[in-house]
Amino acid sequence: MTLFDVKDKCKLNMLVFFLYILIVLVPVTVMSHRYFFHETPAVVSIFPVTTAILFVLHTLIAFFMLMQYMANRKKLYLAVLSFAYSLSAFYLVYKLLYYPGIFLTGAVLEGSVNDLAIYWVFRSISMAAVFLLTAFLYQRRDTLCISHRRVLSVVLAASCLAVIFAYFLSSKNPLFGMEIVTADGRDYSQLWSGKMGYVIGGIWALATVLIISVTRLKNTFWLAIGLSCISYLGNVSILHSSIYIHSLVWYYARFFEVLSTFFVVIVLLYDISMVYKKTLMKYQISYESSIRDPLTNLYNRRYYYDAMKTYLDKKQSGVRLAVMVADIDYFKRFNDTYGHIHGDEVIKYVAWSLSHSLRDQDIPSRIGGEEYSALVIGASEEEVRTMAERFRINVTQHHRSEFPGTLPAPVTVSVGIYFMGSEDDKAEACVAKADAAMYQAKQSGRNRIVVFGEASL
Ligand code: GH3
Ligand code: MG
Ligand code: MG
Repeated sequence: MTLFDVKDKCKLNMLVFFLYILIVLVPVTVMSHRYFFHETPAVVSIFPVTTAILFVLHTLIAFFMLMQYMANRKKLYLAVLSFAYSLSAFYLVYKLLYYPGIFLTGAVLEGSVNDLAIYWVFRSISMAAVFLLTAFLYQRRDTLCISHRRVLSVVLAASCLAVIFAYFLSSKNPLFGMEIVTADGRDYSQLWSGKMGYVIGGIWALATVLIISVTRLKNTFWLAIGLSCISYLGNVSILHSSIYIHSLVWYYARFFEVLSTFFVVIVLLYDISMVYKKTLMKYQISYESSIRDPLTNLYNRRYYYDAMKTYLDKKQSGVRLAVMVADIDYFKRFNDTYGHIHGDEVIKYVAWSLSHSLRDQDIPSRIGGEEYSALVIGASEEEVRTMAERFRINVTQHHRSEFPGTLPAPVTVSVGIYFMGSEDDKAEACVAKADAAMYQAKQSGRNRIVVFGEASL
């Protein structure tokens, strides 16, 4: 049972989305604009720590999405989205090389805070651009006939160009560069209050609007992606007010990015567990239908013989086994007098009586038109006789039973029993002996039970 249908889910996700903006983003943005000039004591570790966390989370997301794409190759947008996170992870690990003490005592790469800012700008713009492409691919998912390899190659080439471009703008290249942070590494006003901030904010705003309008946040996955987009936009708007790196605002922004990314990971894990659950359920349903007879829901002949063979193999363990075979008496008359539909009702009723007369561990089956067989496991001879007798009597007492259908006339069955000995190794031979006993029951008047090797009762 689902709690919400699809339409309600869209509405609920939209509500969560707007509540997030109202309760979290707006107050934090307003607060950050009021206190933007507050420079807090430097918590230097926060940047490498959050970068490392984001790297791990983005790598995980990329991996999960790629796995989902591999499982369903139709969803190109998942491969592209996976690429957005892989690209981000690449930028993040590159950034980590700049921090001292992460990989080596000193930094692996020498560079300025300005370099880190440049990589941040390129990471943001590239990710937002890939999100835009994702929205487009999602919208055209049913109509677009395009080579996946070609799309991914183009995205890869464009991302490589962006990385190379970022590298050339950094301090690694003395010929030309981009100054977004003051030389002392504290003032970011160039980045946030200048055109750059608006470009990054604008592209994230576009990505957010497109993701929401195209997906209508129809499931938790898209809600997580939507929240991720709006968090990036929130980041830019929060940072827009802050010119100092060591301000509360920067910490908020970092916190947001980690939180929204963490949410995406949780949602992906939840999605995977749901897919697993659904697959398991589908498997169980199809397995059940492959071993059951559709008319009576008893086990079918193939399953029955397989189960018998398994028990015969285990016979040495000393479990007593007995086989019952039952056949409806004068069944042809039901068909001829009342028609096949009523005949089927009789077959269902006898099956129902059989399974209600046995215990849970026994295996009742329909082995032919109106012929049944049951493997009775771990019961004494006396108990088997009692069960068979209970079945025979139950069948005759339809008026007293709780069977949901109605019968056109009273019905009786003849039953044969065979108690397996230690020498038995063939399921077919055991059923044939019970069948011979059942035939004897027919011969001696029907509506009775005969044990193989014994005279009729
Ligand atoms: P007996 O007491 O000797 O068993 O007599 P009977 O009339 O029951 O004879 P038999 O067992 O040979 O009858 C089998 C009949 O069952 C023949 C066939 O038309 C009918 N039958 C087989 N499968 C189905 C089924 O799935 N639905 C219906 N309605 N009839 C079936
Ligand atoms: Mg019959
Ligand atoms: Mg028959």
